[in-house]
Amino acid sequence: MTRRILLSGATILSMDPAVGDLPRGDILVADGKIVAIAPRIEAEDAERVDAAGRIAVPGFVNAHMHSWQTGLRGLAADWTLLEYFRWVHAGLATLFRPEDIGIATLVGALGQIDAGTTTLVDWCHNNPTPAHTDAAVEALAESGIRAAFFHGSPKPDPKPGEPHFSEVPHPRAEVERLLRGRFAGDDGLLTLGLAILGPHYATMEVARADFRLARELGVVASMHQGGGAAKTPGGWEKLIAEGLVGRGINIVHGNDLPDDLLGQLVDLGVSFSVTPENEMTQGHGFPITGRLLARGVAPSLGVDLESVLAGDMMGVARVALGMQRALDNADSRQRTGAIPPTSTVSVRQALSWVTIEGARMLGLDHRIGSLAPGKQADITLIDARALHLQPLHDPAAAVVMQAGRGDVEAVMVAGRFVKRDGRLLAGGLDDELERLAASGTRIVEELRRRQQAA
Ligand SMILES: [Zn+2]
Repeated sequence: MTRRILLSGATILSMDPAVGDLPRGDILVADGKIVAIAPRIEAEDAERVDAAGRIAVPGFVNAHMHSWQTGLRGLAADWTLLEYFRWVHAGLATLFRPEDIGIATLVGALGQIDAGTTTLVDWCHNNPTPAHTDAAVEALAESGIRAAFFHGSPKPDPKPGEPHFSEVPHPRAEVERLLRGRFAGDDGLLTLGLAILGPHYATMEVARADFRLARELGVVASMHQGGGAAKTPGGWEKLIAEGLVGRGINIVHGNDLPDDLLGQLVDLGVSFSVTPENEMTQGHGFPITGRLLARGVAPSLGVDLESVLAGDMMGVARVALGMQRALDNADSRQRTGAIPPTSTVSVRQALSWVTIEGARMLGLDHRIGSLAPGKQADITLIDARALHLQPLHDPAAAVVMQAGRGDVEAVMVAGRFVKRDGRLLAGGLDDELERLAASGTRIVEELRRRQQAA
């Protein structure tokens, strides 16, 4: 008989227009899916989990994170984007062994589960060998998180006689190997995407080849846009003219895109992921959030770099919202001399950016991103009985403006608890943190040795 779980008495923010909010309701889960949501559900055969005083939200979607950098936590906190390229991509990244990628990805994913994330877009751009890739993918599977593994290529300085990374097309054979293996079928927790260079970081020939490859294979292709001058100026216009730009294309950052081009990309169905804290820190300029909202679409959000900051998606939503309100308020004061009569963006919108909009970016909004019967049971329970969350007048405000990772009491991915009673269910964390520290320390010390020898 299938095991059924009844989450009982929660304050439910479904983020689904048909289900709506329930001040107090039950969620019945079976076979990894949500079976029913109602004020009261009778299910005597189900395991009853008391969720009174907790807020049930769709598990958060972290739409952009480079988990392989978890062992470098904090190291790049004072570095601009230029320093980051030099010391991380052209330096530290080249010293990773497969086991370094594995442990960093595992702890990065567990850190996200701990903070209520159920879907992690792991934008992995340090795959010098298939063994590195397999280590990352195995770590994601081990963590229990739902993951979109975005396969990308490393960015070292070229050795004599070797081409620059911007001239190297995405390795088709490697992507096909992954699609035949770990990513065969589309019903599991792992999805494959491509972390490509795009016209900002590649030649036109490479950008074109990578767009075609993603379309042929039917996978999402995501790329950074921003940071210095584009490798291929006018590249987007050419790709659009060639009919290669549409749904399934994802742009990360995009802050410097001119208005007319941004409008065209939005109209073609391109999605945008914003990493607000890191964008402001590293020099990407102001997040693109408001410019998307003005065009009737919304961003997904991501943490980006644990070498800089270790975010939870509630904090990321809070920063994205605060930044956009600041921009809108400043704009209004400049135009009219007064602040806007009402907030230009709501906490409810910010919550959608870390839930359903992340799902939409992945093309998985029919399966995840909101709480509704038939959807995957990816559910985060936030303990709203906490000192700093009482009294609970507005649960969405509590989640976006007041809660943090310490308030995440339970996390369920596809109906299976991966965090419960405030504790991660993955065992062996002490051992894993020791391995992570050893890995990060070895890499940093190795780079220092090489610099001193040079
Ligand atoms: Zn990034």
